[in-house]
Amino acid sequence: MTSLDRPHLFIGGQWVPPAGNETIPVEDPATETIIANVPAGTAEDVDRAVAAAQQAFDGWAGRTMAERGAVLDRLHTALAAKAGDIARTVGLELGTPLKIAKAVQAGLPLTVLRGYADLAVRPEPEQTIGNSLVVHEPVGVVGAITPWNYPLHQVVAKVAAAMAAGCTVVLKPSELTPLVAYLLFDAADEAGVPGGVLNLVTGTGPVVGAAIAGHPGVDMVSFTGSTATGRAIAHAAADRIAKVALELGGKSANVILEDADLIKAVKVGVGNAFLNSGQTCTAWTRMLVHRSRYDEAVDLAAKTAAGYTVGDPFDEATRLGPLVSQNQQDRVRGFVERAAASLVAGGPDAPLPGTGHFVAPTVFADVDPQSELAQEEIFGPVLSIIPFADDDEAVTIANNSRYGLAGGVWGSDERALAVARRMRTGAVDVNGGAFNPLAPFGGFKQSGVGRELGEYGLAEFRQVKAIQR
Ligand code: NAD
Repeated sequence: MTSLDRPHLFIGGQWVPPAGNETIPVEDPATETIIANVPAGTAEDVDRAVAAAQQAFDGWAGRTMAERGAVLDRLHTALAAKAGDIARTVGLELGTPLKIAKAVQAGLPLTVLRGYADLAVRPEPEQTIGNSLVVHEPVGVVGAITPWNYPLHQVVAKVAAAMAAGCTVVLKPSELTPLVAYLLFDAADEAGVPGGVLNLVTGTGPVVGAAIAGHPGVDMVSFTGSTATGRAIAHAAADRIAKVALELGGKSANVILEDADLIKAVKVGVGNAFLNSGQTCTAWTRMLVHRSRYDEAVDLAAKTAAGYTVGDPFDEATRLGPLVSQNQQDRVRGFVERAAASLVAGGPDAPLPGTGHFVAPTVFADVDPQSELAQEEIFGPVLSIIPFADDDEAVTIANNSRYGLAGGVWGSDERALAVARRMRTGAVDVNGGAFNPLAPFGGFKQSGVGRELGEYGLAEFRQVKAIQR
């Protein structure tokens, strides 16, 4: 037992005990100590939560957008009051350095929730096409299954959009980082979100996740996580023709053309690859550099990486925390140890704290675009640098991936934009264009189906109906 233990689930607007008595320990990955325990929910808990969501659906869907917007506004106020707690909790259960935890792990979900509260006050969209009135209706009960790397943002991106659209939700957060999700449900409780609109069932993927994905009462499954799990969820949903939205892995390219601002392109590129210890689905893990600037870029990337101080997430000087778990550390170290490329920073023998799931900030140069390093999602602080001869070759290498989630291009504006248009990926930042939380977010190819955030994210939770007159 610890003071952070959360023994309950949130179902039908109440904190309730789980049906079983198994628990899941939550580890602090920097100290390798158990900081809390949460319920290992079961299929029975999922049944109860889905029933509560079904019961709440008609009432919630029947409210106007403005009424739902007012509830989201209160939820935002209650959650914003917990910003410091959110950052500390993610620092503890995931190991994100506190400064980044405040800005990204707490700041981003609050921005997204604010955005949906504002969007939801608009009138419900309707359109007349000939003799048809086209109306937009909520899909129904949404099962939301989320990963550990941005553990509140990924929850809010689904929950806020689904609520705004008029859906009710059963959430299963990652078993590695469930504590921050509890803060959202504390806020929902304080804000008076109507009972059954938001339900929380913690537990493992194969038990609670699979029960949600296969539940006949779940009309849509919205999933963020690995491509392998996304495939299993799509199969389960296909059996009853339930809608799915999948936000999956990535292997994004950062293309640095010969006329780029090289210093900025490399520094921002390394920062992007190492954000959250490289546990970012959009991370630019492949840096593609024109041959004329290649040696300079490799040198600068190696020096930049060496400047990333690794250590305690709660130490002001830390820029790189641990990976989330022993499994992830072993997996990432395996990629580093097997790599057949030139090691220019970090690597398997770099010094690290004795305790904690740390991996050194690592850069490989002369990486073969077909190799494991360039093709597999590593999900750690490992950057691969690859040279190219001209814009056509840069596009070919960038698109030589089964993923297509994000990317970057640096160079003179028109030329960089032309390359960006040719990249087969859901988003591209030209010359460091800032992340836009209202822009559609999602993947091409095996990076997923559907979009999150802003208007596009809201549309995902609606279905259209044509009424002929
Ligand atoms: P994961 O797929 O193992 O787990 C994600 C969630 O799915 C967890 O809640 C887990 O418990 C659950 N789950 C596991 N097996 C399940 C099953 N059989 N049925 C139903 N649910 C199941 O992924 P992870 O290890 O938590 O996260 C890392 C991966 O997620 C990376 O590959 C990363 O790229 C990807 N990711 C993608 C995005 C995106 O937006 N595209 C965002 C974050 C992470």
